[in-house]
Amino acid sequence: MRPDLAELVPYRAESHQGMVKLDANENPYDFPPVILEEIWQHMGKQFFNRYPDPAARRLVEQLSAYTGAGRDGIMVGNGSDEIILNLMLTFGTGGRVLIATPTFTMYGVHARIAGAAPVQVPRRAGFALDVEAIVEAARKGDTRLIFLCSPNNPTGNPSPPEEIAAILQNTRALVVVDEAYQEFGGKSCLPLLEEYPNLVILRTLSKAFGLAGLRIGYLLANPSVVELLMRTKQPYNLNAFSQLAACTVLAHREEFNGLIKRILADREELFRELQAISGVESFPTEANFILFRTSLPAERVHRELLARGILIRNMHGPGLENCLRVTVGKRDENRLFLEKLKEVLDA
Ligand SMILES: *Cc1c(COP(=O)(O)O)cnc(C)c1O
Repeated sequence: MRPDLAELVPYRAESHQGMVKLDANENPYDFPPVILEEIWQHMGKQFFNRYPDPAARRLVEQLSAYTGAGRDGIMVGNGSDEIILNLMLTFGTGGRVLIATPTFTMYGVHARIAGAAPVQVPRRAGFALDVEAIVEAARKGDTRLIFLCSPNNPTGNPSPPEEIAAILQNTRALVVVDEAYQEFGGKSCLPLLEEYPNLVILRTLSKAFGLAGLRIGYLLANPSVVELLMRTKQPYNLNAFSQLAACTVLAHREEFNGLIKRILADREELFRELQAISGVESFPTEANFILFRTSLPAERVHRELLARGILIRNMHGPGLENCLRVTVGKRDENRLFLEKLKEVLDA
């Protein structure tokens, strides 16, 4: 085995039957039946036996209409996770990858898998980007990529495009902005794409559009960057069913606006309720989840909630001491979570 993989830990998602599931930032609502019906209707007789379109042309067209980006500046992946690995393999291997932490752990994992060196650049108090530290770190060594997430998972705060532009102006490295939660809030960096050929934007249909199970992510970048990425892309990375489902969802994307609005309203209520609990400090968020710190050890809160049928994420770690992350669920799920959390903290 490659010795540099020895310290990697296989990804283990918690699976618990019958739990109130608020741990993975998924859309909690049932998939719209009208859209499901339309997906079935579009499956022809040769749908399963033929390979899918490797360029996912129909989907790329829909994504172009949705985002306003040109078709040759779009690449789709089997979840944005796969695209993160492609970015590492194409640009990162043998070099340094800067990561503004605390953030999504997959950037570090995929950097290691690709044989790149992940370098953490801590965010400031309140989790804003430390623009100067990032620019400074990018000048050192062989820095190839910079990973920023906005709104950031798990802290929930977005980064103003002006801050990202300040980084783009001062480095030749590729700056990747992961906008997985864009539909819930924060200003997109899309308007910066034209000006900065070293900007890469990641998006996904896993969160706002309720397709986490079908693994559909996409990238927006300068066409020259997409052309380079095509070298490491698996030809049939996005299966035919996911391509069809994604096209259908995007054609009916207004169906999701109501659900997104409801999630945002419930997020505000959940935030207010959390703030009112003594022993809880919650952090402002523009995503569909809330980070909060508890007076009790996060590990204990997590375990005690599990015992009461509530699954959330324990985020305890550097910069996130005794922090947990809860996804905004349906109204009754949020209420149950709050009730059990109070019970745990009162005990
Ligand atoms: C959930 C999430 C993704 C989405 O990953 P997919 O592979 O597209 O499901 C990407 N980035 C961040 C920061 C996320 O939280």
